[in-house]
Amino acid sequence: MSDEVIVAAEALRALIHEIVRHGGSAAAECKIVSNHLVGANLAGHDSHGVGIVPTYVINLENKLLIPNTEVATVRDDGAFLQFDGGKGYGQRVAAEAMQAAIDRCWDTGIVAMTLKNAHHIGRVGTYGEMAVEAGFISLHFVNVTDHFEIVAPHRGSDARFGTNPVCIAMPTSDPAEPIILDMATSKVAMGKLRVANNAGTRLADGIVIDADGAPTNDPGVMFREPKGALLPFAEHKGYGLALMAELMSGALSGGGTIQPGNERLEGIINTMTAIVLDPARLGDVGWINAEVDAMADFVKASPPVDPALPVLVPGEPERLSRAARNANGVPLDRESWEQLLGAGETLGLARSEALAIAGLA
Ligand code: NAD
Repeated sequence: MSDEVIVAAEALRALIHEIVRHGGSAAAECKIVSNHLVGANLAGHDSHGVGIVPTYVINLENKLLIPNTEVATVRDDGAFLQFDGGKGYGQRVAAEAMQAAIDRCWDTGIVAMTLKNAHHIGRVGTYGEMAVEAGFISLHFVNVTDHFEIVAPHRGSDARFGTNPVCIAMPTSDPAEPIILDMATSKVAMGKLRVANNAGTRLADGIVIDADGAPTNDPGVMFREPKGALLPFAEHKGYGLALMAELMSGALSGGGTIQPGNERLEGIINTMTAIVLDPARLGDVGWINAEVDAMADFVKASPPVDPALPVLVPGEPERLSRAARNANGVPLDRESWEQLLGAGETLGLARSEALAIAGLA
């Protein structure tokens, strides 16, 4: 049996829609969640794609994820918007909060938006993409709470943070080619360790430490007790950015940080602070875009050390992956696939039906 399953994107969307529907969500929510998760797989981020659904099902059963929850406004004060996600599907409540920030930005030119208490919001670049589609720039700081810590601080030997992503999204003159930096502040996203652990692959050096703080290549240290820790990217700089993402999101949103004085029920709660900015309020957009294009072209023209690996700009790997996976289907490792089918069964979606929806019967 092959250790990989390939599912066409449309069929995978239909399957996730059905699993989420079995979890109690109305059709519109199923659509947002399935589009987002399959979109993450298409972008090449399997860590934030459909493989996370089994965790969502556990959280649904433990009432740590509440379906059919729309975002609630906490503050509406000109350029300042604050929202509470009510433990609803993060893909939905974060999109609602982001859309409100974008709508407001047409009037105010800049918006500071915070979101607290959202269940896992998924691939943060999705919200950057929403901003650039409107012609806006956005910055996003995100933390992870309610969950055990995963990432060690620089010089530390145990975990004190989540993988705290940061995203900066910038339009270019081509709406199809924005520059979107969207990254965990850990060496890799936690989901990538789940994928590696499921696939039985060893990690490169310098990504995780074991429970004694010693370097290891075994992703399993993150999935058994006593747990190890992921390391931040770029030593003290990545650690510093992780801490600032924690504070910018957790403290400003009112949702709180991962410090142990706050509630911890072992769900996955994200808080996000996003700044949305209309470049037209700072200059001529045609000139700004042309300057962005020229700089990106300049950077990309650097002769690659390896001719097979040309210089890219952030957002480009995701576009390349999207083109390939839309054409050839989404590959999922067998273990993640079995876990996904199992999650469907838990909610009452028979395996045979799931395989039929996925076009694999
Ligand atoms: P990654 O390391 O694959 O990519 C990070 C960034 O680097 C991307 O913007 C990508 O376009 C860019 N990039 C990659 N290769 C490049 C190259 N050769 N040249 C130029 N740019 C390049 O991503 P990651 O850090 O593993 O994060 C994966 C995803 O996980 C992100 O979408 C992030 O939002 C998400 N995430 C979410 C949470 C959460 O709690 N919701 C937590 C952590 C991460």
